[in-house]
Order: sequence, then C-alpha cells, then structure tokens
Amino acid sequence: MIEINNLNKAYANLHVLNNINLNIEKGKITYLVGPNGAGKTTLIKSILGLIKKYDGSIKIDGKLINGESDYRNIIGYMPQIASFPENLIVQNIFEMVKDLRPNSYCDEELIIEFKLKREMNKRLKNLSGGTMQKVNAALAFLFNPNILILDEPTAGLDPVSSSLLKDKILTENKKGKTILFTSHIISELEDLAQRIAFILEGKISFHGSLEELINMTGGKNLERSVAAIMIGKVA
Ligand code: ADP
Repeated sequence: MIEINNLNKAYANLHVLNNINLNIEKGKITYLVGPNGAGKTTLIKSILGLIKKYDGSIKIDGKLINGESDYRNIIGYMPQIASFPENLIVQNIFEMVKDLRPNSYCDEELIIEFKLKREMNKRLKNLSGGTMQKVNAALAFLFNPNILILDEPTAGLDPVSSSLLKDKILTENKKGKTILFTSHIISELEDLAQRIAFILEGKISFHGSLEELINMTGGKNLERSVAAIMIGKVA
C-alpha cells in the first residue's frame, strides 16, 4: 500500500532519514515509534507530499507520489499541531474543509461522539488543547479516507476521549482502512498495533508484529523492551 524505498532526506548537514525501506501494509494498523528527533514527522510529511525534496521513492497503491497531489484525497491526516487561523470559530473550519470536497460523504461520528456540536461557536484560540485535538481527529476521519495518518492522536486527550478515538481507529481498521500512527504511549502498542516500525536516528531498526517484538526482546516488560530498542540495546 505505502512502499518506501531507499528514502533519504537531509537538512544541510543533518541526515534525517537514512535509507528508509518500509512497506506499510494495506488494511493494517502500523505503529511508528522512535525517540524525539528520530525522523517520524519527516517520514510522515514525505508520505503526505509536504516534503517534496528527497532521494528514493514513495509509492501508494503502486504509483509514485512524487509531484502528484490527487493521491492525498484518500488520506486523512491528523497533525500533532494544526495551524489554523486562531480567530476562526470551529464551525468555520468544518465548513471550509467540507467546501473543498462538496459532494463527498462526511463521517460525522467523531463530531457526535466528542460532543463537538456544542463547541462549534468557539474561537480556536479559546479551545482547550484537548478539544483542539478532538477537532483535528474529527477532521482527519471526516471524508472516510482509506488511509489515516495520525501523529500522536491521543496526546492531550482525557481517558474517555482517548478510548473513543482508539475505538474509532479499530472500527475503521475493521472496515479495511490502513492506519499509520505515532505515539509515545506504549500501552497503545498493545491496544492498537498490528505492525510496529521502530525508527532510530533516521533508520528503521525493527519492523514486525508485536509477537515478533516480544520474542526479540525476551518478553520482558513491554515499555522497558521498547526503551531498550530506542537506546539501541536490542537490534
Ligand atoms: P520526530 O518526529 O521523530 O521527533 P522529526 O522528523 O521532527 O523527528 O525531526 C528529525 C530531525 O530533523 C530533528 O533533528 C529535527 O530537528 C530535524 N528537522 C526537522 N525539520 C527540519 C527542518 N525543516 N530544518 C532543519 N532540521 C529539521
């Protein structure tokens, strides 16, 4: 589904992505994990076409994405921090996004589940961090995309909202959606992940199932195992 081959990205002398080869499987939930600064966001932005200059190739459904933009219609993206003009009210954001795709089916389940209807007249600058996160999540799922890319989707959400979002991720995956998400919350590895990709200093150091990860690390406490991989003690 998303095939990444020999992907290299540098900023000046900083080699951020170092020959990444990764196949993000169709219909699976892949958990992308790695320490701060490992290159997760750079990888995601490359897939989204927000970064265009890199060496190597990215294919979605067999087609090279370089220079293309239509493929983005099948992707729902939830960024860590959304940058909308702060003076807009929540309703404006949903209207603006819906106007971009006037004849599309809209999945409003998260708007309802997160009780966002009562937030619609508030200015973005007055929203709590968690509510903004809910708006971002509802936008990512709005057009029923085949691929969902979620950058720390549950960060800042209360436990009820976090559970709702995780249920939504699982429900959409059962319908066949491909989901790539990043998180530092290790319990989400067990809750959600079907495949796990570790990125360390711009390199994929592990890609496999939870079972393979546990076998590799000797089945000890999961958080400690993940930490061991992150500092390069298991490879
Ligand atoms: P992660 O998402 O894993 O925390 P990032 O992909 O955001 O990591 O960043 C990887 C590295 O690339 C970091 O060292 C970061 O400072 C650097 N970096 C990211 N974007 C830029 C940029 N636009 N210019 C220069 N360096 C950048």
